[in-house]
Amino acid sequence: MRAVVFKSPYEVNVEQVEDPKIGSPRDALLRVTTSGICGSDLHMYEGRTGASPGIIFGHEIMGIIEEVGDGVVGLKPGDRVVLPFNVACGFCFNCVRGFTSACLTVNPHGVSGGYGYVDMGPYRGGQAEQVLVPFADFNCLKLPGSEEDELEDDFVLLSDIFPTGYHGAVLAGVFPGSTVAVFGAGPVGLMAAYSASLMGAGEIYVVDFIPERLEKARQIGAIPIDFSKGDPVGRIMELRMKSGLKPGEEKMPGVLCGVDAVGYQARDTKNPGKENPSQVLEDLARLVNPTGSIGIVGVYFTKDPRGVDDPARKGNFLLPWGRFFEKGIAIGMGQTPVKKYNAILRDLIVDGRAKPSFVISHRIPLSKVPEAYRKFDERTEGHTKVVIKPKMH
Ligand SMILES: [Zn+2]
Ligand SMILES: [Zn+2]
Repeated sequence: MRAVVFKSPYEVNVEQVEDPKIGSPRDALLRVTTSGICGSDLHMYEGRTGASPGIIFGHEIMGIIEEVGDGVVGLKPGDRVVLPFNVACGFCFNCVRGFTSACLTVNPHGVSGGYGYVDMGPYRGGQAEQVLVPFADFNCLKLPGSEEDELEDDFVLLSDIFPTGYHGAVLAGVFPGSTVAVFGAGPVGLMAAYSASLMGAGEIYVVDFIPERLEKARQIGAIPIDFSKGDPVGRIMELRMKSGLKPGEEKMPGVLCGVDAVGYQARDTKNPGKENPSQVLEDLARLVNPTGSIGIVGVYFTKDPRGVDDPARKGNFLLPWGRFFEKGIAIGMGQTPVKKYNAILRDLIVDGRAKPSFVISHRIPLSKVPEAYRKFDERTEGHTKVVIKPKMH
């Protein structure tokens, strides 16, 4: 089969690789109909994670079951499914408590497994024609309809970014009427803002500096804030003071719910050409009101060979801890346990109450993937979210 293989920083190739084969009775073989390129793939692509060459990328996967092992009871060839990016067993201490993001049995070198990702176990990625699904009964979410119908591109987002954005909003404590600021209008940030609006948030601000992304934020009813035009925190507070503050809120000009959908490759707001890994958390410390909450779903790594300084290369950052404590802010973070959310979000899509595919900008065949990585990485030509269609030529 053909698959997207990581060669070296800034280089991926589409190569002929060995077909996956059922190895355990609990495996299933999936023919991929759609898979996504994720912002988190770019960290590996740029050589910012210590990923070794040879990895087949892709953790946002959906398709049709082709073959199942003898021990698979709930799936049969022809079933249409989407996979959580987390690979999980379903029976370990963390899985049984719902934390499939920290499965204890699937990664021989640590906690938590995933497809096509550095340090997440031996699972090949789904930017390919086929993929092997371990513990298939547990890891497949069944979908109605048929291949490439009008919900295909909504469903593929259930693998990662829709649940991840939703998780960010949950960790940020979003509730009906709440005030929300999302930093980052990449695919996950847009999904966080969209989820906050599904949850009934009152005001939603989205901070970024790429015009196409800010335009998408505006389209879903959020207020876009371009940080290249000045301090985003001051501007959100100004807007709130002009029209948003309710009686008694004078000392609370910020927001109650903050989402970091950027992570460690944050840009310096005063100088967008430069990285400042703690910029977003510094901004959130100023912006989030006392008693508020912050959800961090943008990623931070323990290894970053190209980090801005020595501590950053080891994942250590200087943070306004005193400010967080003084305000009594709750902070939640980490990888999303996709299975906690994917079934209910699927049902919102099926019922026509959510249409997350508004975020997708490009649909491409495998042969165009190297070029798409380059453009998505440069955020040029409106590359907001790219999905791959292996059948397309
Ligand atoms: Zn992803
Ligand atoms: Zn487990």
